[in-house]
Amino acid sequence: MAEVTPEVGVPRSLELVVTSVATQLMAVNAATAAAVSQQVLADLVSYFDVDVSFLRHNDHLAHTTKLVAEWPPRPVDAPTDPIAVVRFADADPVFAMAENLKEPAVFRPEPATDDYQRTIEAGRQVPSTSMASVPLLSGEVTTGVLGFVKFGDREWLPEELNALQAIASLFAQVQARIAAEERLRYLADHDHLTGLYNRRALLAHLDDRLAPGQPGPVSVMFLDLDRLKAINDYLGHTAGDAFIRVLAQRLEEGDDEPKLIARLGGDEFVVVPAAPMSADDAEALAYRLQAMLRERVTVDGEMLTRTVSIGLAEGIPGRDSTSDLLSRADQAVLTAKSAGGNQVAVFSDVMAMEIDFRNDIELHLQNVIEDGSLVLHYLPEIDMRTGEVLAAEALVRWQHPTRGLLAPDSFIGVAESINLAGELGRWVLRNACAEFARWRANGLGRRILLRINVSPVQLVTEGFVDSVASIMNEFGLPRGSVCLEITESVVVQDIETTRRTLFGLQNVGVHVAIDDFGTGYSALSLLKSLPVDTLKIDRSFVAELGSNPGDLPIVRAVIALAGAFGLQLVAEGVETETAALTLLRHGCYRAQGFLLSRPISGREMQQLLAKGRVPVRFPPVPHM
Ligand code: C2E
Ligand code: CA
Ligand code: CA
Repeated sequence: MAEVTPEVGVPRSLELVVTSVATQLMAVNAATAAAVSQQVLADLVSYFDVDVSFLRHNDHLAHTTKLVAEWPPRPVDAPTDPIAVVRFADADPVFAMAENLKEPAVFRPEPATDDYQRTIEAGRQVPSTSMASVPLLSGEVTTGVLGFVKFGDREWLPEELNALQAIASLFAQVQARIAAEERLRYLADHDHLTGLYNRRALLAHLDDRLAPGQPGPVSVMFLDLDRLKAINDYLGHTAGDAFIRVLAQRLEEGDDEPKLIARLGGDEFVVVPAAPMSADDAEALAYRLQAMLRERVTVDGEMLTRTVSIGLAEGIPGRDSTSDLLSRADQAVLTAKSAGGNQVAVFSDVMAMEIDFRNDIELHLQNVIEDGSLVLHYLPEIDMRTGEVLAAEALVRWQHPTRGLLAPDSFIGVAESINLAGELGRWVLRNACAEFARWRANGLGRRILLRINVSPVQLVTEGFVDSVASIMNEFGLPRGSVCLEITESVVVQDIETTRRTLFGLQNVGVHVAIDDFGTGYSALSLLKSLPVDTLKIDRSFVAELGSNPGDLPIVRAVIALAGAFGLQLVAEGVETETAALTLLRHGCYRAQGFLLSRPISGREMQQLLAKGRVPVRFPPVPHM
């Protein structure tokens, strides 16, 4: 910025003008450029005694010239100003010339023309003007023009033009610097693959939109492609990138609703409509976007389609934070995905409670195993013909500090997701066996079976069989007195590991039952090849036996299957006398359920074992 002294002599006063311009422009940034430029033009207008001065920048991609500053300012709004942005192709010759101007150009009215003479004679305002145009240059490229207009004639001396060239070069430097700053800002705010906004820009935008007093609600749509990974895996990342670019473009061009679109990386996009909108309108927009993205895309000659899941949430300015809003939209999209994908899910109060609950559980669960707040209850398994207790199923509960006694369904899933399932499972195994051993030591329940639920993670853990065997040893439990319950799904998932574990358990004298039978999809041939002793019919088929006609055929099929494979059969969830009678009539007599007994504490279980049976008074039924 310092080297502004032109080679040709410039009078002292002109030098001072150039120096003053240099000083003014030195500290300019993108925000102040327009105002400072205008001030400089005002100074130049007065110094050179001209009427109008302007600064324009060239856009060589759009082939346009854009007004940056002028003096004096005309009272027009930029959008309605016909000379704010002018296409070179449509411009009058003086503007058009600025596209590639390299040297200062001077235009003067031609006094010789009759027109000029006549106007002067008529004493009217002189219609002709003189003008000096000085290019802004960046290397070989003309980046803009500085113009000075005098109504009427004016001569431009070579030293004046030299000074103006020096000034134009100062403006060109500012222009280049600001362009570089803007480029950096663009890169910081945009995703390099798609040119969409990035996470940083999204967060800043939402922070602004959610500030107190802003119009609301602010809708946020979290878009997640279903199974993009397959495209990357089979066609390569270049194809995956091309696919994402097409979708990004569709999002930008496909719908008229003004909106901010960001890519968070991978196949995750976030759309924030610019205007506050009702929940219904937002949902309708989400469905439109979903439909657009579902259209086929051709990449490398392959026709690709991917469905998309969309999670929708809305935030209230002044109430919700950006991270709350995004995590709600994220939760909604997870719900959409886990419901099979290709859906729009709206964040709901129920989801909010689930999140709170889960966070709370996760927070407290870490210590629960050491701090003694886990409890075992027992669910008796009864021979419905006699009421005799055949087994006790250990069911874990958690005495939560504020939420009371929690059922396992509310925390086992969380434990699994934070890798606590193994530890929790060992606690259950150990404590159930210990309590069972105490009953036995008191001469109680020596002929019953202890049933323990194991989670899928435990079953495929190294050394699981050994740890079961050593616990049984430690408490002196004989072979055949303990049965582990596993779910059908785990059997199917990792068949080889499961097979090894199950045979290992059989070796150390532990029985295995398939829990919740009927809800998974184990191949029957598989069942036959595994050392499984017992099937437990899932309670969803049992609870409504007698009222839901669809259940009976299933229950009968399972009874027949167990018979064919020589497996024990236990019905879960017997709640009504009808269910009990129906089961008995079809030959299933082992059962659990609220009709027979609720889950009871260890102490109550011991008392029950002392009696040996629960009262049952079903009318004798003919076996069918
Ligand atoms: P499950 O293995 O099917 O256990 C039986 C569940 O059914 C128990 O719920 C029991 O209270 C309930 N139940 C029994 N009779 C009836 C009835 O007549 N009607 C109805 N509606 N329900 C009945 P609970 O204790 O809430 O356990 C839920 C599930 O949590 C269990 O289902 C089991 O899968 C799991 N679970 C329980 N304890 C453990 C454990 O120590 N480890 C693991 N991994 N899972 C456990
Ligand atoms: Ca069970
Ligand atoms: Ca079950």
